[in-house]
Amino acid sequence: MDEFLKNILTIPAPSGYEEEFQNIFKEHIKKYVDRVETDNMGNIIAVREGPMGSPKIMLSAHCDEVGFLISNIDENGFLYVQEIGGIDTDLLPGRKVDIHTEKGKIAGIIGKKAIHLTRGEEKKKLEVSDIWIDIAANSKENAEKRVQIGDFVTYAKDVVFYENGFLASPSTDDRIGVWTLLETAKMLAEQLLNCSVYFVSSCQEELGARGAKTAADYIHPDVGIAIDVTHATDYPTADTKVTGRINLGNGPVITMGPNINSWVCHQLKALAKDIPVQYEVIARPTGTDANVMQLSSGGIKTALVSIPCRYMHTPYEMVSVDDARQTAQLLGQFVLHNF
Ligand SMILES: [Zn+2]
Repeated sequence: MDEFLKNILTIPAPSGYEEEFQNIFKEHIKKYVDRVETDNMGNIIAVREGPMGSPKIMLSAHCDEVGFLISNIDENGFLYVQEIGGIDTDLLPGRKVDIHTEKGKIAGIIGKKAIHLTRGEEKKKLEVSDIWIDIAANSKENAEKRVQIGDFVTYAKDVVFYENGFLASPSTDDRIGVWTLLETAKMLAEQLLNCSVYFVSSCQEELGARGAKTAADYIHPDVGIAIDVTHATDYPTADTKVTGRINLGNGPVITMGPNINSWVCHQLKALAKDIPVQYEVIARPTGTDANVMQLSSGGIKTALVSIPCRYMHTPYEMVSVDDARQTAQLLGQFVLHNF
């Protein structure tokens, strides 16, 4: 298994707190590109320069993940949080989290009243205000020696690898996409290009694709492709009637719909004779970097290529590494064939 992939899955980077991850990404991608920039949002923009005046292609994958910020410490040393992004609160009780403090990482446990003591009313869907993090502090004073208001929190990192190339981890959405950017850059490194390629590890996607917006406005690309995860529908209880079936391991997913430029989509589909792909229809703006890219810089021809993912926004988002490899192939071939 790719040690680098394992490494990048375990770096904490909730939206707004991506710096540590971005520094590592920058170090890895710089050997495959001509220059690397960091903007004020914290996006990393790695550029393969094409000939002067040639088209610009922006490939964007977001590095941020969902998480929490400590917003209050009570008299007994329990920590209360606000969520960053779409947290599934029902999954929280009994879970281990990492609190990222100035002095390093400390473990916290999200507490829950024991099942023996839980009454009917208390079994309702949880709000984030119903949960607390326990660091065995016993007093506010004691807790404040270890954590501060504003420290960020992530699920405790744990990567599970399977022999068939599937893996499960928190933040697979969209670190697997960022890894795909790296694989694409690696693949194109030896090739002569007739366009410039901008590899963007974007910030704050989970809060409305805020990083991709500023990056697209800055780059002014002719074509923008977002690389993200999409919902697989190949597990028990998944409803395929309207969405169709999306399988882990059956290749990248090409999206069709109003968010997607028909020429870019057509060119991607044309590559499907050599690369296995799946299709998905999203009849509204997608919840990805593709949404804001299309609306940036006077309007950009935009597409979305996704890696199927089971259990999105849970601590074990499952994907197939082969799907990510095929996605890199698809993007690389798109760049080489069309420009
Ligand atoms: Zn995502």
